Amino acid sequence: MKNLAITNIRLFNGKMDSVILPKATILIEWCGKGKNGEILDGKISQIGQMDKIPIPKDYKIVDLNGKFVIPGLINVHCHFTANGEPMTAMQGSERKMKILQWFLRSKLGKRYVKKQMRTNIQAALNSGVTTIRNAGDPEYYDIEVKKEIDAGKIAGPRIVCAGRSICVTGGHGGVISHIIDGPWEGRKAVRDCLRHESDVIKILSTGGVTDSKKIGEAGRPQMTTEEIAAICDEAHRAGVKVMTHCESTVGIREALLGGVDSIEHGAPITDDLINLFKNNPKSLNGYTTLVSTISAAQDIVALGAEVLKVTDIIQQNGKIILEGMIEGLHTAVKHDIPMAMGTDAAVPFVPHYEFWRELVYYQHFAGISNKRAINIATEQNAKLLGVDEVTGTLEVGKSADFVVYDGNPLEDLMVLEKPVHVVYRGNLIKNPSYKKIKEIEKYDSKRFFSILKKEKQ
Ligand SMILES: [Zn+2]
Repeated sequence: MKNLAITNIRLFNGKMDSVILPKATILIEWCGKGKNGEILDGKISQIGQMDKIPIPKDYKIVDLNGKFVIPGLINVHCHFTANGEPMTAMQGSERKMKILQWFLRSKLGKRYVKKQMRTNIQAALNSGVTTIRNAGDPEYYDIEVKKEIDAGKIAGPRIVCAGRSICVTGGHGGVISHIIDGPWEGRKAVRDCLRHESDVIKILSTGGVTDSKKIGEAGRPQMTTEEIAAICDEAHRAGVKVMTHCESTVGIREALLGGVDSIEHGAPITDDLINLFKNNPKSLNGYTTLVSTISAAQDIVALGAEVLKVTDIIQQNGKIILEGMIEGLHTAVKHDIPMAMGTDAAVPFVPHYEFWRELVYYQHFAGISNKRAINIATEQNAKLLGVDEVTGTLEVGKSADFVVYDGNPLEDLMVLEKPVHVVYRGNLIKNPSYKKIKEIEKYDSKRFFSILKKEKQ
């Protein structure tokens, strides 16, 4: 009996105009396998007030005794290859980068990377993340892992993959990306991604923090508007969105004019750009979404270069980017620019199991309500990924993706750290667990909590 009746719960369906339903039931219909043997998502067949939903005989009853349920969380920006452990892999000489690249492409490298990916995906899932977008990784290994999951070979969440990202010669992310110079090379790289079934195109249009060698390099415009526009046109012709790593105001302007669908990380947003976000005729859906990733820069600033095993230059660039990102997020909140949320899990001190922190940061730094933070992390994130008809809110006909907590996340977002159960694609994880990374845990008291305390004083 695989049909499930999750009952006696306090339910928040994820929508901004709804409140907690105090005594609710969710019926999950097991849908089995599809024509090609692929696993079909278990669907919500009924949802609502407990006393109005009789439980059919062939449903297994799970009485949750008043626990809280919200939609499964969606992390729209991570990289499966790395787990957030402090490491120096992306820093160093050209020769070191060449060796790293050679390893990543080797048989052994492929096996190693795919193993890491499976572990990191499981950690995310067990922390309550039921849908993940991978924002660029070596080769197209992420797509291979996604296919293993969808075919039912291994259990896993819903995944949206970029495959190999795209950057310019000498640009940020060069080790794992297609290198392009000129619009036609950009189009060719997009075509290669589409051939490998990338769900989204990831470009890096400005410099970044993690491989910067000069102050101010993060955010320096690298890809030209002409190149970005060609890439967007090619992707949009196939109905595929483009996300760009972008960390400066100049970079945001060029990317918006090029037609990108999301700005990842962010920077201060000037008045002339507000309307271009909200009404961007060159983007796929007519607007561009801002995806801040506060987690990615927060700990570099809080813990310092030595702990994170990065250079002082990287730390200083991290500080500049963090301040700009928060300023941009404030503008987005004030002017109702479409927003989504990711962590950039993989960069030092951002493990895949801590997406919940990003909601706390959004609430804290951008001054939004807990409800809005949850709504962005679920319904809005689903919209950006184009999976909002399947997940993001809890409604009849959607995939059963939700998380169960002891406390009320609408009152306290810290509750999100410890899910009691996770339900993904109709499957119940009774005792979710994952291995925490020791190197990160060592500094836990100095991270985050001390910062929030300082801010409050
Ligand atoms: Zn990233």
